[in-house]
Amino acid sequence: MKIPFLELKPGVKELQSEIAEAVARVIGSGVYIGGEEISKFEEEFAQFCGAAHCVGVSNGLDALHLALRAVGIQEGDEVIVPSNTFIATWLAVTMCGAVPRPVEPLAATHNLDPDKIAEVIGPRTKAIIPVHLYGQPADLDPIIHIAQRYGLAVVEDAAQAHGCRYKGRRIGAHSDAVAWSFYPGKNLGALGDGGAVTTNRGDVADALRSLRNYGSPRRYVHDAKGYNARLDPIQAAILRAKLPRLDEWNARRKAIAALYLDELSDSALGLPFVPTFADPVWHLFVVRHPARDALQRELAEAGVETLIHYPTPPHLQGAYSGDTFTPLPIAESLASEILSLPMGPHLAMADAKRVSLAVNEAASSLRFDCTQNAKA
Ligand SMILES: *Cc1c(COP(=O)(O)O)cnc(C)c1O
Repeated sequence: MKIPFLELKPGVKELQSEIAEAVARVIGSGVYIGGEEISKFEEEFAQFCGAAHCVGVSNGLDALHLALRAVGIQEGDEVIVPSNTFIATWLAVTMCGAVPRPVEPLAATHNLDPDKIAEVIGPRTKAIIPVHLYGQPADLDPIIHIAQRYGLAVVEDAAQAHGCRYKGRRIGAHSDAVAWSFYPGKNLGALGDGGAVTTNRGDVADALRSLRNYGSPRRYVHDAKGYNARLDPIQAAILRAKLPRLDEWNARRKAIAALYLDELSDSALGLPFVPTFADPVWHLFVVRHPARDALQRELAEAGVETLIHYPTPPHLQGAYSGDTFTPLPIAESLASEILSLPMGPHLAMADAKRVSLAVNEAASSLRFDCTQNAKA
């Protein structure tokens, strides 16, 4: 038996005719940049998120970068980021010429600890980027409260959080701007690169529309030093075909997460903790174990593919080796213990059950090893 971490082909197969029809529609339209597929997708995704505006862009990194530019981040500014996120959150800050200031997460939720934010705010701090890591919302109310108190912008990184809810309301318009990725493996994924920013702020939406298209509000008028960061209409059409299935596919992820939580409750693993404010969409199901590498090896031998999100925090990457940071022990200890189990809308429940059995077996043999070592 082999259970892959994530398979994308079954999702394409389930929507084969809708996707083929969407691609054919663009090919037949004669419009290959911008056009109706983009504006329709933007309307539909904004409505899904409960946001007034959606601006399609080229990918999640550009969504973050342009959102930061649109709220006014400039060279020399500082932006607060989680210490344990995917490096794109930090790179978007660096792309603005600004400096990422890491803040540690709460170990229980893996999300930004609101109580640790105020202590890193200085005169150059201009924004906070909460990340809704693994499809679970960060605790937005206290974060937005701190931002208002210090006059900071908030840009959410929702690349893993399509459809998730904070205190009953969908992620998409709680703060100044919300950045999305449609990388194929995300909960709402294109068949290539794609991204978007949602917001309730008309001025931010206008700035984004200009920045993604050479800083041009009208043809041959360039008010800002912009970029080419547009969403591809073929990807927009494919996303329109997939968006109506997102809630159903998220519900399947939820059922798998419920099975894992139930089946793994007796093991020595650290299991995901869901605060009462959160309605997660389980982009990833991440467990913790002190002997993570051994656990991953045993699971691989049992045919279960697992991944680590992420094995090295950004501050320890070569990309940031020239910068100095205060110690970030929570990010480092999480990185050494986390393991992502197979998860996706097309993972069969029977396979999720087999994953649970393999995990329980591996965890108990590791516990046995520990006792043996203690005796020796
Ligand atoms: C995927 C991801 C991104 C980047 O998205 P791309 O579309 O690959 O550029 C940013 N932040 C987080 C948390 C992500 O998971």
